[in-house]
Amino acid sequence: MKRLKFRSIRARLTLWYALVLGFIFIVSDIILYQSFKMSLMDTIDNTLQAAAEEVEDSIFRVPPERWNTTIKQVERGFLVNRMFIQLVEISTTSPGIEESFHILARSGVLSGNISQRKIWESLAHQFPETPVYMNVIEESPSTHPLRIILYPVQKNENKGYLIQVGTSLKKMFHTLRNFLIILIVSGPLLLLVSVFGGHLILKKALVPVKSVVQTARKISTEDLSLRIESKNRKDEIGELITTFNQMISRLEGSVAQIKQFSSDASHDLKTPLTVIRGEIDIALRKERVSKEYIKTLTTVREESQKLERVIDNLLFLSRIDDREYRFSFQKVQLDEIVLNMFENAQLLAAKKNIICVIKKMDSVFINGDPILLNRLIMNLLDNAVKYTPARGRVEVSLEKNQKTVRLTIQDTGIGMPGESLPFIFDRFYRVDPSRSQRSEGSGLGLSIVKKIAEIHQAHINIHSELNRGTIVQVLFPTHI
Ligand code: ADP
Repeated sequence: MKRLKFRSIRARLTLWYALVLGFIFIVSDIILYQSFKMSLMDTIDNTLQAAAEEVEDSIFRVPPERWNTTIKQVERGFLVNRMFIQLVEISTTSPGIEESFHILARSGVLSGNISQRKIWESLAHQFPETPVYMNVIEESPSTHPLRIILYPVQKNENKGYLIQVGTSLKKMFHTLRNFLIILIVSGPLLLLVSVFGGHLILKKALVPVKSVVQTARKISTEDLSLRIESKNRKDEIGELITTFNQMISRLEGSVAQIKQFSSDASHDLKTPLTVIRGEIDIALRKERVSKEYIKTLTTVREESQKLERVIDNLLFLSRIDDREYRFSFQKVQLDEIVLNMFENAQLLAAKKNIICVIKKMDSVFINGDPILLNRLIMNLLDNAVKYTPARGRVEVSLEKNQKTVRLTIQDTGIGMPGESLPFIFDRFYRVDPSRSQRSEGSGLGLSIVKKIAEIHQAHINIHSELNRGTIVQVLFPTHI
């Protein structure tokens, strides 16, 4: 269960946040501690130097017997940090090290001795040119180290004076220890508060994601009309919600289309079957003469042809809808296909006493699938003849321009009302089935035409006027 918990974005982000923040706290605490320590040390060193300078200023103005008193006076002036002061004479010409140092005066604070030998060693037996600071632990008056300044006062070549001023670092270490305790205690406390706060902020920030998930769950089980409220958010979550809502809208549209399609398809398949069943039932009710059987069988044949056409169209549509389906694109002579289809249409038109003419026929080559192009031209010519009454006229032309090839099929038929035009490419849409004398239309012809045009990147224009006629133009690009 615990492992599962860390799979949530919130838990993972909080963990990362805590780790990064913890690291930042540790680094900043180290920096803070070091700079505090340096600043304390600086203050001490400045005080030591000030005391040494004061000793230098005053001591050589009085005779040696008053040096002790002068040192004590200086020492008393620095009350906050108690310090020891001593004046040491160093003779650089003495034969032994021990004889080189001679303590001339000292304040009373220091109970022990500071090894002058050690100091001389740490100075590498060189009389210093500038003040030197050092920490001394040995023989110090307390258990804490002393901080001392060795302040050189050069008198002449063989002899020099070192003013030594020192103070215990006890107070400083005490302050540093307290500071460290504050850091150690406040660090984790601050971290805890920050992580808790971060966790709460994340929880708030992720609330909309939760609502997306909840609505998405409901949508899949209940109703596709549900949408997630975006509350006009302009951030990433708002973008996610808008995209999600758009996706659901598209899904809703597709599902509605599929429902409509299946109900239309069932209806179109059921009607001829009902007619066939009815005809057979009537024929079987009693013994009939052969003339009546012929009539029944003729109706059955007509209805089954209708069924065949619908099924054929449906299969054709589903084949070209299939993304996996490979079209056989090749260089095709479009005028040859148009002429072939025109001849077929002419036969049909002649039966209805319709005149079919070719107005213009350029020789045109385009890249396309010949079977699909056959179907497109056949459907358009079929409609022109189907919806044109006797003594009407159908005109066909194929023209080549620089960028396009234009196929125009014009008829003087019954036309279509303007309000129907937006729907005529929908599957199973028929303007008004009773308008056609032959009721073989299923409303799939133009949707197939549109699909084939799309596959060939062609554009379709339709102009139609009720009872005057229709002009259909297909514009093929020459470059595909
Ligand atoms: P159908 O198989 O019913 O002809 P289509 O998809 O080919 O189906 O056409 C859809 C509808 O558009 C038809 O029902 C018809 O009313 C109308 N239509 C198509 N072409 C023409 C035309 N040339 N003249 C008049 N109406 C047409």
